[in-house]
Amino acid sequence: MARQYVYGFGGGESDGDASMKALLGGKGANLAEMAKLGLPVPPGFTLTTEVCSSFYANHRKYPGELAPQVEAALASLEKKSGKKFGDAADPLLVSVRSGGRASMPGMMDTVLNLGLNDQTVEGLAKLSGDERFAYDSYRRFIQMYSDVVLELDHGAFEEALGAHKDLQGYRYDTEMNADDWKQVVAQFKKIVARERGKPFPSDPKEQLWGAIGAVFASWMNDRAIFYRKHNNIPESWGTAVNVQAMVFGNMGDTSATGVAFTRDPSTGDRRFYGEYLINAQGEDVVAGIRTPKPLTKAARQAMGENELSLEETMPGVFAELTRVYQSLESHYRDMQDLEFTVERGKLYMLQTRTGKRTAKAALKIAVDMVGEGLISEKEAVLRIDAMQLDQLLHPTIAQNSHRDLICKGLPASPGAATGAVVFDSDEAAQLAGEGKAVILVREETSPEDIHGMHASKAIVTARGGMTSHAAVVARGMGRPCVSGAGELRIDMKANVFKVREREIRKGQIITVDGSTGEVLFGAADMVQPELTGDFGTLMEWADRARRMKVRANAETPEDAKTAVRFGAEGIGLCRTEHMFFDAERIAGVREMILATTRDGRVKALAKLEPHQRQDFRDIFAIMGARPLTIRFLDPPLHEFLPHTEEDCEDVAKATGLDPRALLARSKELAESNPMLGFRGCRLAIVYPEIYEMQARAVFEAALDVAEQTAAAPIPEIMIPFVIAKRELDLIKARVDAVAEAVFAARKRRLDYSVGTMIELPRAALLAGEIAQTAAFFSFGTNDLTQTTMGLSRDDAGKFLGAYVENGVLAHEPFVSIDAEGVGELVKLGVQRGRAARQDLKLGVCGEHGGDPASVAFFERVGLDYVSCSPYRVPIARLAAAQAALANRPD
Ligand code: ADP
Ligand code: MG
Ligand code: MG
Repeated sequence: MARQYVYGFGGGESDGDASMKALLGGKGANLAEMAKLGLPVPPGFTLTTEVCSSFYANHRKYPGELAPQVEAALASLEKKSGKKFGDAADPLLVSVRSGGRASMPGMMDTVLNLGLNDQTVEGLAKLSGDERFAYDSYRRFIQMYSDVVLELDHGAFEEALGAHKDLQGYRYDTEMNADDWKQVVAQFKKIVARERGKPFPSDPKEQLWGAIGAVFASWMNDRAIFYRKHNNIPESWGTAVNVQAMVFGNMGDTSATGVAFTRDPSTGDRRFYGEYLINAQGEDVVAGIRTPKPLTKAARQAMGENELSLEETMPGVFAELTRVYQSLESHYRDMQDLEFTVERGKLYMLQTRTGKRTAKAALKIAVDMVGEGLISEKEAVLRIDAMQLDQLLHPTIAQNSHRDLICKGLPASPGAATGAVVFDSDEAAQLAGEGKAVILVREETSPEDIHGMHASKAIVTARGGMTSHAAVVARGMGRPCVSGAGELRIDMKANVFKVREREIRKGQIITVDGSTGEVLFGAADMVQPELTGDFGTLMEWADRARRMKVRANAETPEDAKTAVRFGAEGIGLCRTEHMFFDAERIAGVREMILATTRDGRVKALAKLEPHQRQDFRDIFAIMGARPLTIRFLDPPLHEFLPHTEEDCEDVAKATGLDPRALLARSKELAESNPMLGFRGCRLAIVYPEIYEMQARAVFEAALDVAEQTAAAPIPEIMIPFVIAKRELDLIKARVDAVAEAVFAARKRRLDYSVGTMIELPRAALLAGEIAQTAAFFSFGTNDLTQTTMGLSRDDAGKFLGAYVENGVLAHEPFVSIDAEGVGELVKLGVQRGRAARQDLKLGVCGEHGGDPASVAFFERVGLDYVSCSPYRVPIARLAAAQAALANRPD
């Protein structure tokens, strides 16, 4: 049997169905399904995606079986429609429509009215009794075909039409009569002959093959290639071509065309929603030349619209459309997006597909459909796009709030915030310490700005993309961020930023909307996110389905509260370095670093201890009986020291320390590669007092809270940057000794554990040994990615894009875990660690903990929990549920 390359549909039967999207494309598969359901679909046929693949595999030649199969399909189409292709008396006209598995902008535009020529146009005129309509259709066809198939410049056609209208003194196309269109057709044909060096093809078969060829050729145009790369659509998928009998929405006032959604795509409300135009062809609804009208009377009244709805102008058609949409929705069991046309009072369906929707609508529709018995809870959980929830998890600007736009950049980290402009990170930290809301505006950010970013309500940068330092760090911290606001010029000396003529001074209030990329002048009204209603219901279902626990990365009481509110079951990463940057404490930190003796260091640390203890007390109190993983000090020491002579003078004055000593020590500690330097537990091996102080603060704080509240805090002490069991042995012995001392003094004990981060390849390799000492592992996949791949996250943006585009890497490894490389080390760490200690607790605390694709990977390797930024907790809860459901056979 020869392979079937062409699938027919229409007249109540189809060769294909909705399950054949890979072969027939989404549009073709759904047309076949609708025809099979007995819905009024104009008949037609689909050339499969295999034709496309075969075309490209064989030097742009069609398979031999194709032409006879198209002939046969055309003959069958003629029979179904009762018209003949190219027949001067009763011509069959068709549309040629592209359509792959996934809808793809960049593919060839649809050609309508194909089959028209000087003879068939007369037949169309007679049959319709409307010469004007026939010649208008003809000129539309020449224009469309010349544009998308012959690829002639469409400007010449518009000019010719404009010139004709000027000559006749017309303003609108509606003033054109049949003779006018005839003359325009003649002109158009002249333009084609001139530009192309050949006349416009008049043979309908030649027209058809031309259009088919153009669809397949458009699979490899630059727009399509670009889109595929950016949306991970494999080239091998190919596109299908649909050839379908034309129906006319432009045959007068009993004809119309429209688009509809079976439910409201922005709110999810269960009400029919859409727009239509009387006496128009499909393209006109989206083209925006005329404003379409609402479908229902209720929508029309709500909008205060005077022109009648479809429900009122064509009640019979509307009733049928209602039956059709209801049957389509219950058949597909999801909200549908429809295209329809009415030809002289008769309804035709031209497309159906799963409708795109906002996050809010997605939740409402899923929960409602469970209630309606249409889908199961499990299907509802699997149906929501976890990342899309991000739209609902940040404060947003109220819809009716006043907006004074200063400039626009990239929507780098979602949410909105208001605050006073600052240009300097130290100043941001200082003002935030005084309780002021600030927004950090920088050319771009670097690791030196972390404390300023943390202190700010939002961040704006003039340079950098979606994976710039500012963007990545802001997303991790849950701070709104607009990056790459190219029009913005910062004048640090004058303390202003300029956008064209406009000047914004330091201290002036702006609002940043990281979800849209907008920077607005002044304050705006905000709406706070809440996990109630449909969102809450869906999260309950997700929680029932998931195996992994979800924790948050949080180090301030504010973040901890947000985490708990969003359902975090603990804190998986509480960094302690930001606590040291606080304006009040930095003097003590510097004194500690400058101290030349152990005694000097201990004295300085003693000044910091009460602050640390208070920090931990606050967070323990919020977390109650949920575990709190505290990571001990990690960054290189020199980050705490002033770097310029000027700064040293300032610090010296404030602290009474010697400015020269400060500068000298800062230089001494500076490293050429701090990422791989004297940091993490390496500090504690050389200066054990630092971690001892932190341990004491943790135990005292935990006991304080245990005494004051009913809940028993669960401290988990996490040692960073470990490469050997011996490091952990040395440090754990000290931590245990501190614990015993505190417990003895307070006459009260407390359960705690000591574990480690696995963030260096050596630690993953030696996981078996390290697990003999560590009670838990938390995979620090940010550093593990950097050190496994030899990539610096702060600098890799310059070339990572090219690596992804050229297929070296499947995706950006700091966004989704590199499963085949870095992931292999995680797997190894899990296996070796568990082999050594059965009850070893395993988690992850990198950015990846909040990325759904990575969460699925962590489910497969069997981690116990993921930890992510507080605003990502619901996303991770849903992603963990989806991963568990996908892994569970049933
Ligand atoms: P897109 O994917 O861009 O929506 P379509 O192939 O769906 O492209 O078609 C573009 C427009 O032409 C739509 O409004 C569609 O309804 C209309 N259309 C397509 N085929 C026909 C047809 N056979 N008869 C009437 N209108 C059609
Ligand atoms: Mg369409
Ligand atoms: Mg780290």
